[in-house]
Amino acid sequence: MLNKNQISENMDKFMKTLFPICRSITGKGVKQTLELINELIPLEIKYTPTGTKVFDWIIPEEWNINDAYVKNSKGEKIIDFSKSNLHLVSYSIPIKTKLSLNELKEHLFTIKEQPDVIPYVTSYYDKNWGFCLPYNQYIQLDDDGLYEVFIDSEFSNGNLIYGEFLIPGRLKEEVLLTCYVCHPSMCNDNLSGIVLLTFLASHLKKFPLKYSYRFLFIPETIGSITWISKNEQNLSNIKFGLVSTCLADSGNMTYKKTRSGDNEIDKITEYVLSSQAKDFKIMDFSPLGSDERQFCSPGIDLPIGSLMRTPYLSFPEYHTSNDNLDFIKIENLFDSLLNYLEVIFIIENNEIFKNLNPKCEPNLGIRGLYPSFGAGNKKTELIKAFSWVLNFSDGKHSLLDIAIKSKIDFKLIKKASEILLEKNLLILD
Ligand code: ZN
Repeated sequence: MLNKNQISENMDKFMKTLFPICRSITGKGVKQTLELINELIPLEIKYTPTGTKVFDWIIPEEWNINDAYVKNSKGEKIIDFSKSNLHLVSYSIPIKTKLSLNELKEHLFTIKEQPDVIPYVTSYYDKNWGFCLPYNQYIQLDDDGLYEVFIDSEFSNGNLIYGEFLIPGRLKEEVLLTCYVCHPSMCNDNLSGIVLLTFLASHLKKFPLKYSYRFLFIPETIGSITWISKNEQNLSNIKFGLVSTCLADSGNMTYKKTRSGDNEIDKITEYVLSSQAKDFKIMDFSPLGSDERQFCSPGIDLPIGSLMRTPYLSFPEYHTSNDNLDFIKIENLFDSLLNYLEVIFIIENNEIFKNLNPKCEPNLGIRGLYPSFGAGNKKTELIKAFSWVLNFSDGKHSLLDIAIKSKIDFKLIKKASEILLEKNLLILD
């Protein structure tokens, strides 16, 4: 069983440790993040050198940042990377120059509609530089003198790194759970994914499991492309998968389906969400979003969906300085963790059985499975579950199919199947 208070406290602590780190698709921030995850679960860290071709892409140079600021003509720092790592466009080239306000403005990014936030902007593949600041600060810039711009960044032939953790199960068939580690100080997108998967892995590794569970902590897009290109031979082992992102906001759960929309993971996740009292949303697959864009590209087409709360792009705090520690709630992240565990419970237990006594109903009474008093409408839920499991255990319907048909909770259907198995009325198909 999960200790809610203990796990929530630890998740909160971990979120706060990861929050200040300046991450990007490469560099020290990713390394530091992976080292911190490694303190909780044993990560295998994989290196792919700059210049390596991965499908249609090339691993970029490694980027590291030491300091960055803009000073006005009086020498006052008006934008300072050390105050918020969102102030600098990620992958900015090094620069030390003096510019007029008009020249500077070509490199400044703001959101007029949200005048108090710092936007999150990247320029991974165009050699450029820029600063991000609240619109309210931007419109007050009026210094006629020259602005001093300083960016102490370094590009080097290094590596793209990611972390991987495998919990081997009885079967070599895998469940792939993946999140990204490339965003600087933002919580919902996507520290929530990192924290949830770290604690999910650290919980699951204590139990014997049927499937093998592979956890990926990768830079978004280029990281998933790299992982897929290096592991193409083994992709057929992946039977289920989820991309984990946006899991700590106050919205209800959302499930984005796999590309075909009719994989077992789709059925399981929809069932989990629909069996709860809360409202939820199901989205069809679209080739826009996170790493499902790569995992569900037509030549890969893995059974991978995405289980989140409010999806990226649809909450105003998304990709801004407002996606911070105040925006998220650990109790929501814990609730998301419970949803993931429910999905995994069904993945682990969704068997298909065959009824060994399929000609008419077996006599449950002589096997001690039927109460001697009462009948008909007095039937308990468990006895109803026996009838449903016996009738539909025809080698075609899974326990989840039977739970959906009967509207009896999956856990009770599973319990009924265990009893019937013990009484030699069922056999695993
Ligand atoms: Zn993002």
